[in-house]
Amino acid sequence: MDALKKLNRRRFLKTLVMASSAAAIDWTGMSAFAATITNKKDFPIVVIGGGLGGLVSAAYLSKYGFDVTLIERHYIPGGYATSFDRQDFTFDVSWHATVAEHAMPQMILADLGIWDKVKVAYTPELKRIITPTFDVTLPAKNPQGVKKELSRVFPHEKKGIYDFYGEMEMVISELWEGKRFEISMMGKLENLSLEKWMSMHVHDPDVKYCMAIFSGYYGVLPTEINALFYAIATGEYLVHGGQYYKTRSQDLSDTLADCIEANSGRILYDTQVAKILIDKEDTITGVMDNDHVTYPARAVIANCSLPSLVNKILPPKKIPKAFSQQIKKRRASLSSFVVWLGLNKEVDHIENYEIDLAQSKNSSDDLLFSKNDLAESGLSMTIYDNLFKGYSSPGKSTLSIMCLSDFKPWKKFENDYFNGNKNAYNREKQRIAKRFIQRFEQALIPGLSDMIEVMEIGTPLTNMFYTQNPQGAIYGFDRNMPQIESKTPIKGLYLASAWSHGGGYTPVMMAGQQTAKLVLKSFKQRF
Ligand SMILES: Cc1cc2nc3c(=O)[nH]c(=O)nc-3n(C[C@H](O)[C@H](O)[C@H](O)COP(=O)(O)OP(=O)(O)OC[C@H]3O[C@@H](n4cnc5c(N)ncnc54)[C@H](O)[C@@H]3O)c2cc1C
Repeated sequence: MDALKKLNRRRFLKTLVMASSAAAIDWTGMSAFAATITNKKDFPIVVIGGGLGGLVSAAYLSKYGFDVTLIERHYIPGGYATSFDRQDFTFDVSWHATVAEHAMPQMILADLGIWDKVKVAYTPELKRIITPTFDVTLPAKNPQGVKKELSRVFPHEKKGIYDFYGEMEMVISELWEGKRFEISMMGKLENLSLEKWMSMHVHDPDVKYCMAIFSGYYGVLPTEINALFYAIATGEYLVHGGQYYKTRSQDLSDTLADCIEANSGRILYDTQVAKILIDKEDTITGVMDNDHVTYPARAVIANCSLPSLVNKILPPKKIPKAFSQQIKKRRASLSSFVVWLGLNKEVDHIENYEIDLAQSKNSSDDLLFSKNDLAESGLSMTIYDNLFKGYSSPGKSTLSIMCLSDFKPWKKFENDYFNGNKNAYNREKQRIAKRFIQRFEQALIPGLSDMIEVMEIGTPLTNMFYTQNPQGAIYGFDRNMPQIESKTPIKGLYLASAWSHGGGYTPVMMAGQQTAKLVLKSFKQRF
C-alpha cells in the first residue's frame, strides 16, 4: 500500500483510467496535429513489437499517412493476443474477457475505421464460483441479480452485499454519467484497499472471496489492490458484461495488422530489434535488427518489455540514470499457468463460460495462486463453446484451465528450458496439469480426463519464449504502481505496452492510441 499512499489524486486517477475502459480521450486532437505536418514521409516511425499496444500505435500513425515500420519477432501479430492450432482445435493464448462494446476499445477501433470488422460475444454470466461449501452463479449485465444471488447464498450478509455493489454502481455512474452524489464515492474509495472497503460492509470471508473474485484479473490481492481501481475495473464488467473478441483474439490482432498494411504501413515478422540507434546529439536515428539491417526513424515506439529495452536494446551509455533506476526498481507482475484442452465431446450440460474453483480458506491461494504448490491454487476454467455456437468443430469442446503463477518455481528450469533440456520441466508441468484436470473432474465434469483429445500446457517460461516478457509477466510491471510516462527522457523514444501503461487488452490499446498522439504532438513541435 505504500506506493498507493504516495499517489496524488490526479496521477492515481490517470492510472485507474488506464486500468479500466472507462476513459474519455480527446480524439480530435490527433487529426489536427497530423494535418499540420505536410512532409510526413520525412518522419519515419519504427514500432518494436506487434502486441496490441504496438499494433494500435502503428495503425493510428499509418492512418495519418506516416511511414510506419512495425517489427515483430514472432511470425504472427498480437503478442499475447494470438491463437494457435492443434489438430481440430484453435486455442486462444490469453483471451478471457474485457469490456469492448460501448467502451474505449469500440471508440479506438471505430476511430481506426475497423470496428465493423470486429465482432464480440457477451459472456453468459459474470462468474460462477465453486468452493467446498457453496456454488454460486453471478449473472451478467445484471447488478441487481448479482446482489440477489449472493444474498440468497449468504442471507446473513444481505445488507452489506447490497451496499457494496451499490457503491460500485455509484462509481460507474460518477465516472461515465457524470453523476454527482452528496459524498463522492470515488473520493471515498480512493484511499482504501479493497479489503478495507469490503470490511466496511461484510465479515464472512466467503462473501469477501466472491466480492474480490476479480482480483485475479488484476493479479493483486485485496489487501493491496486499491478499492477505487477495483470498483472501476470490476464495475465495468458488473454493469456492461464481459465480452470476447470473435472468433479468437487473433482476429482482433489480424484486423489491426490489416489496417496498418492497408494504410501502407509495413510489418516485418520474424525480425527482432537488437539495438536502438542514437546519435551524438542523443537523438534517436533508427533501429538495427539481429541481422544488422538498419531502419531509420525519427520516433521509436517500444511495445517490447521495458526491462528488455533498458537491459538489451538501448545503448547503455545513452540511458539517463534516473530512467534506468525507475525501471530497475520495479517488480514484474505475475505470470500464468494455462492448460488448454480439446475434448472429443460437447460439454453441453454446463452453461457457464468462466468457472472459478477454490478449495482452501486462504484467499491468497484461491484468488491468485498457491505458493506451496501451484497444483493446489485457485483455478479458473473457461468453456469457450458457451460463448457462441461453432466455437469448436461439431461434437467437440474447447476449454482452458488457468491459474496465475509467480516466476519463482520456474526459475530453476530456466537455463535448461532455453538450452532444450526440458525433461524435468515437462514432468513438473504435466504433474500440475494432471491435478488441475482431476480437481475439475471431481467438482464439475466427471470423466473429463477420458474426453481429452488434445492438451497443451503454457507456463511462465512459455510466455517468455514467445513474447520475451521477463518472468513471463502478463501485465507488465506490478499493477499497483502508477504508469510510466509514454514519452521517455530519450529524445524520440516512446512507450506503449503493459510495461508502461498497465496490462490487459483495453489498457494497452489505450496506450497505443495515447502514445501515437504524443508522437504526432512532438513532430508538430519539431516541424
Ligand atoms: C494467459 C493469459 C490470460 C490473459 N487474460 C486476459 C484477459 O482475459 N483480459 C485482458 O484484458 N488481458 C488478459 N491478459 C493480459 C493481456 O493479454 C496483456 O496484458 C496484453 O495483451 C499485453 O499487450 P502488450 O501490447 O503489452 O504486448 P505483448 O502482448 O506483451 O506483446 C509484445 C510483443 O513484442 C514482441 N517483441 C518483444 N521484443 C521484441 C524485439 N526485440 N523485437 C521485435 N519484437 C519484439 C513480442 O514478440 C510480442 O509480440 C492475459 C494474458 C495471459 C498471458
